[in-house]
Amino acid sequence: MTTLTTSIPVQRIAKSRIKEVDFNNLEFGKYIADHMVVADFKDGKWHEPAIFPYGDMLMSPAMLSLHYGQAVFEGMKAFFMNDGNINIFRPQKHHARFNRSLDRMCMPQISEEAFIQSLRALIELDKDWIPTSEGSSFYIRPFMFAYEARLGVKVADHFKFIIINSPVAAYQAKPYRLKVEDTYVRTAEGGTGFAKCAGNYGGAFYPTQIAREEGFDQILWTDHKEHKYIDEVGMMNVMFVINGKLVTPKLTTAILDGITRDTILTLAKDMGVTVEERKVSIDEIEAGLKDGSVTEAFGTGTAAVVAPIAVIKIKGNDLIIPEAGPDSFQLRVKKKLNDIRMGVEPDKHGWNYII
Ligand code: PMP
Repeated sequence: MTTLTTSIPVQRIAKSRIKEVDFNNLEFGKYIADHMVVADFKDGKWHEPAIFPYGDMLMSPAMLSLHYGQAVFEGMKAFFMNDGNINIFRPQKHHARFNRSLDRMCMPQISEEAFIQSLRALIELDKDWIPTSEGSSFYIRPFMFAYEARLGVKVADHFKFIIINSPVAAYQAKPYRLKVEDTYVRTAEGGTGFAKCAGNYGGAFYPTQIAREEGFDQILWTDHKEHKYIDEVGMMNVMFVINGKLVTPKLTTAILDGITRDTILTLAKDMGVTVEERKVSIDEIEAGLKDGSVTEAFGTGTAAVVAPIAVIKIKGNDLIIPEAGPDSFQLRVKKKLNDIRMGVEPDKHGWNYII
């Protein structure tokens, strides 16, 4: 792995596209900022990254990632803080997860220095694209894929690492109506669920489409063996407040180790809330919603921070979760996290990476 020099070569865009952006109407992922970082792994080593204008790339129809799926990504955010500085939230933790995903997919790891320094250079260059309205952010998408052209089934020898960014609006959290999935699985233990690889997402489309046709917003994924224990919700981790404790499924190889999950569990402990990471069964949630001991249910992820759950259909019955009021754990923890990111509250865990 080569270490990165601090000055990354930049080929600037001839004319910025920023005037095409409607900052009052930012659909998630619609606009991609002017520049991208590109680095190649070939001949057994990393080559220095460079910044180019964002645009189409040449590729062979025999490119291995199209056929055998060696493709991994991350999703993280940067913001303007109240003092005008730019803050990337927990990039080291995202980098560590990226490397775990790469490892699972037999792809070469990238150094923390290369990852963070290229991110930093790119965000500084395109900082005019970071939206400023409340709750908005700059969504950062680092990814890597097999670029080698060859039809034989093999681990590729040539990979590309790229970072692109997109301005996004505050997430509008419409409370979810959930289907408990008892036919399909997102992934099985021993599979790739803990890795952020492209195939996990493609494979989830079909069951999600069926759930939508049945009138649900998202799927509550359950374990592959018995469909008895809860794994995740849609593309988020899931948490419950049960008898005043914060309860979430313990991580397995089928569950993505969410950065927001980790952040919320840490903040809960700071707030004096008892945290339990353990198996959570559908039966427990059914009983708890009937006797009132489950008072909150929500998804956690980079896009939404927290996404409230309104209804879970269990064994043919719509079980209702009370609406989250201003004193709910989920809204208090969301505010606390936001205050840390904006610099209103001290960042005692060192999560803000200020550039
Ligand atoms: N689970 C899955 C399957 C996801 O795709 C995501 C989004 N990356 C999450 C959970 C939440 O992870 P994070 O908090 O790191 O965004």
